[in-house]
Amino acid sequence: KEEMNMIQGALELRTKTVEGVMTPLGNCFMIQADAVLDFNTMSEIMESGYTRIPVYDDERSNIVDILYVKDLAFVDPDDSTTLKTITKFYNHPTFIDFTRKQTNLQCKSHLAIVQKVNDEGEGDPFYEVLGLVTLEDVIEEIIKSE
Ligand code: ATP
Ligand code: ATP
Repeated sequence: KEEMNMIQGALELRTKTVEGVMTPLGNCFMIQADAVLDFNTMSEIMESGYTRIPVYDDERSNIVDILYVKDLAFVDPDDSTTLKTITKFYNHPTFIDFTRKQTNLQCKSHLAIVQKVNDEGEGDPFYEVLGLVTLEDVIEEIIKSE
């Protein structure tokens, strides 16, 4: 019976959009690019409980990097290390080229930033960040029973 639900869930994936399962931008726990990794900031990060934290510059919709909590392992909160120092050091190959493919729930890695092309206004079309989606969100869709 559980297996049936999973098969059902897997089959239904095709009809689901990323937007339907993602965590919307407004609910994302993120960190500002110019943050200093002092005790307060590091506590907030730890308390958030998230493993991957989008880094934004200026506006929340402008995601420039991802901070992995494990990157903080060697950071001493007394050193006032800047976040930039850390992200530069680890230089994770970021996926901020926001592949359009992700509109059909094909996300190879654990976390992806969701965006869509916004061509509603007068100006040139631009990518609008909508939120983030993780493998967990997709798996949840598969195993959830009705
Ligand atoms: P892990 O389980 O690998 O430690 P995690 O707990 O940080 O990672 P996931 O398990 O991948 O995160 O996802 C759990 C839920 O949290 C998902 O719904 C996902 O969309 C959401 N999520 C993940 N990262 C963030 C974040 N930085 N801010 C808000 N929501 C997030
Ligand atoms: P875990 O660390 O729990 O094993 P994972 O290996 O599935 O998770 P991540 O930790 O999110 O996935 O990322 C692994 C590597 O892939 C990181 O270096 C990250 O920068 C990169 N990556 C993450 N998301 C993407 C993406 N959407 N496209 C390309 N590369 C990505």
